[in-house]
Amino acid sequence: MPRSPESIEYLGIIGRSLTHTLSPVMHTAVFRYLGLDYRYGVLDVAPPFVESLILSLRRRGFRGANVTIPYKQTVMPFLTAIDPAARLVGAVNTLVYSGDSITGFNTDVVGIRNSLRIWGDRIRGGTAVVVGAGGGARAAIASCALDYGISCIAIYNRTSDHAEALAASMRRELPSCTLMVVTEARELQEAVHAAALIVNTTPVGMHGPESPLPAEIHFTAGQVVFDILYTPLETTLMLAAQRDGARTIGGLEMLLHQGAESFRLGTDLEYPLDIARTAVLQKLQSRTSGK
Ligand code: NAP
Repeated sequence: MPRSPESIEYLGIIGRSLTHTLSPVMHTAVFRYLGLDYRYGVLDVAPPFVESLILSLRRRGFRGANVTIPYKQTVMPFLTAIDPAARLVGAVNTLVYSGDSITGFNTDVVGIRNSLRIWGDRIRGGTAVVVGAGGGARAAIASCALDYGISCIAIYNRTSDHAEALAASMRRELPSCTLMVVTEARELQEAVHAAALIVNTTPVGMHGPESPLPAEIHFTAGQVVFDILYTPLETTLMLAAQRDGARTIGGLEMLLHQGAESFRLGTDLEYPLDIARTAVLQKLQSRTSGK
C-alpha cells in the first residue's frame, strides 16, 4: 500500500561530488531489513548553500544527516550544539535534529573504537604509529588514547608541519598521551617496531598497489595493522602486514561502525551490521566488475 508522505522519515548525506558514497546503499538496505518507512537523501550542495540546506532539513522532516567531504568543518558554526568527541576531532560527520536543536557528532571515533575492539587486548596500553595528519588521524589518535589507553603515539605524515600542528593541538586535549612526530626513516622504523598498533589514515593504497610506509618496514606477529581505507578491501599495507604475521583490520569495519553509530543517533535503533556489510560488499563487487 502506498504510504503518505507525512509517514516517511528521512536521513541523508550532505557533501559534494557524492557519486561514490556507500552510505545510501548500506542505510537503505537496513531500512528495508528493519521494515522502516525511511528514505536516505543524497544532498549534493555547493558551498554557499550549506547553511540554508542544514536549516531547511529540519522543516523537511529530517531526523539526521551524515556530513562528508568537504563540509565536516563548514557545518560547525551552524549547529546549536557540538558533542565533545566532535570538538576533539575538530569535525562533524553526523547531524541530529531534535526539536529546535541541531547537534553535531563525530562517529569516526566510535567507528575506530569498535573496529579495533576485536584486537583490543593486544593493543591496550601499548604504543601506536598513526600515518597521516588529517581528520582520520585525529579520530584515530582520540580513540587510541581514550578507548585503549595508548600513552605514546608517533605521527608520520607526508607534510611534517601538518603532523606537528596535529600533535600540538591534540597534546592540549590529551595531556596524558605523548604525541611525537617522526620524520626520519630510522625513527619511523623504530616506532613501528615498538608499536602494538599501526594505523594508516592516508589515501595511499586506494588507487594502486602502494603502501603509505616505506617497503623496508616490517611488522611482527603480535602487531595489529589497521588501514582505514575500504577500497580495496585489503590494501597493499594490509597484505604486507599479513605476510609478516600481523593481524589486520580494513576500513570497511570503520565504515560500518561509524554508519551504525550515525544511524543509532538519528533513530535510536540498533543497526544490523551484517545486513549493511552484505549490501556494501555487493556494491563494491558490482563496481569492480563494472556492472
Ligand atoms: P584528510 O583530512 O584529507 O587527510 C589526509 C591525510 O593523508 C593528510 O595527512 C595527507 O597528508 C595525507 N595524504 C594525502 N595524500 C597523500 C599521498 N599521496 N601521500 C602521502 N600522504 C598523503 O583525509 P581524512 O578525512 O583523514 O581521510 C583519509 C582517508 O581515509 C580517505 O581516503 C578517506 O576516504 C578515508 N576514510 C575512511 C573512513 C572509513 O569509514 N573507513 C572514514 C574516514 C576517512 P598532507 O598533510 O601532506 O596533505
